[in-house]
Amino acid sequence: MPKPLHAVTPAFRQQKEPYRWPEVEPLIYKEHDTTFRSVTRRVLFDDDCEQNNQVRYFEVAPGGWTTFEHHWHTHEVVVFRGSGTALVGSETRHVEQGDLVFVDHDEWHQFSATDGQPLGIICIVTVPRDRPVRPTAQDLEAIYASHPELKDVIRV
Ligand code: MN
Repeated sequence: MPKPLHAVTPAFRQQKEPYRWPEVEPLIYKEHDTTFRSVTRRVLFDDDCEQNNQVRYFEVAPGGWTTFEHHWHTHEVVVFRGSGTALVGSETRHVEQGDLVFVDHDEWHQFSATDGQPLGIICIVTVPRDRPVRPTAQDLEAIYASHPELKDVIRV
């Protein structure tokens, strides 16, 4: 007998209001000590779907940013609401609804709501994943030495 996955994940869930879903509560963005501003996390699909993935919706309020970090696991990101700035590796781009962003293994990354509006992103990750690493002072020194333009972009 297959597991009754619909017991945990219904076939259909209608938006209650734009970017909000029934039974999907906003969570603390990060449990561990970290640096970020004005970010909520919602788990849309959990590993109960047997894909070994989680699909999360992060919403960065105007002026907010996600943690500047890297880790071995990758991020597959779809910009879902609004627009803002994405930093991947040493490149920054203005991103808006519909754009796709891929964060490769161990690449520095950060998402910022720079346009006076929320930036909402769908982010797919594997369930067994390593803990993010934040930059040391030496890391930042090395990044700014080779990419001085990032001094005005990275928020830590
Ligand atoms: Mn990350």
